[in-house]
Amino acid sequence: MFFGHLGVGFGAKAVAPRVSIGVLLVAATAIDVLASLFIAIGLESVSPENGAGPCSHGLFMAGVWTLAAFALLFVVTRDWRSALVVGLLVASHWVLDFISHPMGMGKPLPPDLPLLFEGSPKVGLGLYNSVVSALVTDFGLFAAGVAVYLVKTRPLDRTGTIAFWVMIAAIFASPFIMLLGTVGSVIACFTPLILIPLGIWAERHRRCVVARPKAPAAESGA
Ligand SMILES: [Zn+2]
Repeated sequence: MFFGHLGVGFGAKAVAPRVSIGVLLVAATAIDVLASLFIAIGLESVSPENGAGPCSHGLFMAGVWTLAAFALLFVVTRDWRSALVVGLLVASHWVLDFISHPMGMGKPLPPDLPLLFEGSPKVGLGLYNSVVSALVTDFGLFAAGVAVYLVKTRPLDRTGTIAFWVMIAAIFASPFIMLLGTVGSVIACFTPLILIPLGIWAERHRRCVVARPKAPAAESGA
């Protein structure tokens, strides 16, 4: 999955309004960011034959990263709800990859997500072996998440709108960076990190829409 993970991050603003949007987006894509880091330092390699790397995309390690993200957010914010949402976002990445991998995009591939480490059984339902399924799911999830974000936050001024669109432009620039080859692919997977400063900038100029408390029921006989 590609943009769909970011859609889940945008949508999470509805349940974690206190967490900056950049942090939500990085949590949703953390496993891919880790994969880029591990590829860059030679710990993992990704190829259609080997599948996804076990240190980033293995089920066991995805659980470890989920717990680490929860603990980190809880230590920093002391807000268990925000920490839980961020942890679940990290876990959501593996679940969505389980549904979408292997991503043959028209050339069906065998399951490529390891359960444990090197040599362990690999799983994956292969939704993205079909180009149509991949496009509909990826852009559908992204659009749905962005729509939730736009309903839940409103710009305070022009900068709030501009910064939001700069975030979207940064997200859609990443596939073009991938055209630069292997190095470009690794750089592109790190691009979620730039969403942290962009998100802070955007949300200094946006406000969360708070649900109005229900009016108290009229007391009878008063
Ligand atoms: Zn992934």
